[in-house]
Amino acid sequence: MLLGPVSFLKLGKFENRSIDEPHFLPLLEKLLPVYGEILRRLEGLGADWVQFDEPVLTRDLENFHLEGLKTTYGYLASEAPNLNILLASYFGELRENLNPVIELPVKAFHIDAVRAPREVDAWLKKLPEDKLLSVGIVDGRNIWKNDFARSLKILKKAYRKLGEERLLIAPSCSLLHVPISLKAEDDLDDELKQWLAFAEEKVNEVVTLARALEGRVPSAAIESNTRAVRERHLSPRIHNPDVKRRAASIAPGDYKRSTSFANRLKKQRKRFPLPSWPTTTIGSFPQTIEVRRTRARFRRGELSAEEYNLFIEENIRDIIKLQERLDLDLLVHGEFERNDMVEYFGQQLEGFAFTRNGWVQSYGSRYVKPPIIFGDVSRPDPMTVNWTQYAQSLTNKPVKGMLTGPVTILQWSFVRDDQPRSDTARQIALAIRDEVRDLEAAGISFIQIDEPALREGLPLRRTDWVEYLRWAVEAFRLASCVVRDDTQIHTHMCYSQFNDIIEAIAELDADVISIEASRSKMNLLQSFSAFSYPNDIGPGVWDIHSPRVPDVGEIKALLRKAAEVLPAERIWVNPDCGLKTRALEEVIPSLQNMVAAARSLRVEGARVQRFKVQKFVPNRTKDQGLDQRLPTFDR
Ligand code: GLN
Ligand code: ZN
Repeated sequence: MLLGPVSFLKLGKFENRSIDEPHFLPLLEKLLPVYGEILRRLEGLGADWVQFDEPVLTRDLENFHLEGLKTTYGYLASEAPNLNILLASYFGELRENLNPVIELPVKAFHIDAVRAPREVDAWLKKLPEDKLLSVGIVDGRNIWKNDFARSLKILKKAYRKLGEERLLIAPSCSLLHVPISLKAEDDLDDELKQWLAFAEEKVNEVVTLARALEGRVPSAAIESNTRAVRERHLSPRIHNPDVKRRAASIAPGDYKRSTSFANRLKKQRKRFPLPSWPTTTIGSFPQTIEVRRTRARFRRGELSAEEYNLFIEENIRDIIKLQERLDLDLLVHGEFERNDMVEYFGQQLEGFAFTRNGWVQSYGSRYVKPPIIFGDVSRPDPMTVNWTQYAQSLTNKPVKGMLTGPVTILQWSFVRDDQPRSDTARQIALAIRDEVRDLEAAGISFIQIDEPALREGLPLRRTDWVEYLRWAVEAFRLASCVVRDDTQIHTHMCYSQFNDIIEAIAELDADVISIEASRSKMNLLQSFSAFSYPNDIGPGVWDIHSPRVPDVGEIKALLRKAAEVLPAERIWVNPDCGLKTRALEEVIPSLQNMVAAARSLRVEGARVQRFKVQKFVPNRTKDQGLDQRLPTFDR
């Protein structure tokens, strides 16, 4: 099992950029002999088959990529003539890549028949007679039980055409995206468990489907599967008529603030005047061992709800005091009650279920336990109002309410497959909208809706982006556009690549967006500047992924650099992301320095103001005067 060379290069980076046409084929040429050597060694060890994963086959490819594929598989086939090569694609349709791919000199192809059921016929029609087809029919990216009747319809067609010699049956992709086994899930009720299949169950499904094709599975087994699948679709647990009615009756006005950003800002400033270079944080403060231990004790029943709540209150009190002492302008309550920014909300929403051991790899050695959205989503009760209100009661400074956005909740969960993702996003958005409204009614005048997963939800094909961005933006707006003009909506995204989606980001119409920026030294702001992004921005000035404490000078330099490309009065001062994983010993001096940098810039305010119309111009000639007054970061 090897990652194919073309995907390796296309998904890889060279000097921090994607590998473009002049570099691609020369690099491939150097890479191929290494693959050739691996193949020969595998052959020497007695391997019959080698699978090459080329996930880029379901993406937009340039001609040089296709040429690379031809070179690669021509070369590999000749290097190890006795090895059978299986070329695997997944996560989508091949579309225009299908014809060039099917010509490649490999022994077998694997296709994702879950994400691309419509292409199975084309494969069956065009597959050369000496080749095999592996039909990925069991969903490797989700946790629902396979619908045997539906799968068998597709498989029977393939079986008739290919026979048992040339047809392989498989999961749609690697099983690393799903939890290992349902066996350990004692907390899930029997009905729900009936609807699910994790990795172990999925492997069984693959085997059962293969046997069923040969008529070796008793029809009762197929029927009981059909029943389980039908029961899920009909279950009153997944259908909530009120939710459906509400989602169907959303009016265009529900997606809009009642006035422009400029007008809102005036009113917001009147309600809560903040200094220039306003300082804030992204939401969480350090989740110390004590916080995590106390939550675990509460979960185990060793602490009463009352004791636990007192503990959380104590933490909120301390962190409000700390933020006042540091003289931050817009405070937060610290998120001590939250284990995870999605799980915390999911646990309070209807339509969500949680596993006990359903861990899946997120990246590297990090694992997450995604919630399962099985039914219509609604919010029976306020989820964050008490804690936020409590925090606000402790201070005269404004406290920012803190919510996770609908797209992120969707993206970081297993999602029902019986309705479009956009429908589920809309339902979650309505639940968040209720929370936003309740926060506002409780006197909270700043509300942040985090959408760190908005970008990662982008479809693999560019032509599909527009559709996704449309409903993703709509979901955010539905969640947020319920507030008065003088309530300020913030959002946060923990990445920095916005070039591709800057228009959609502007469409969110959040009053303030905070983003990760410190590591890229503010370079990413060029996309905001080139587009003339209209609303306020907080480019992160402190890389919270590192324990390093930034000093005042470097924070000032970053902010000045930001002010070269953005109007200074649009800029907020904040860290890159939440402080959950940092220690207080780093957080306190870093925030101290951040506030000191903002203060110092305020003093220089008049001078900085003069550059507010200064726009970023690539390769602009240096303005001597500007240089003297505002040394740039490079100096
Ligand atoms: N508000 C969240 C926090 O501060 C945001 C986390 C994130 O962006 N991933 O922890
Ligand atoms: Zn973040």
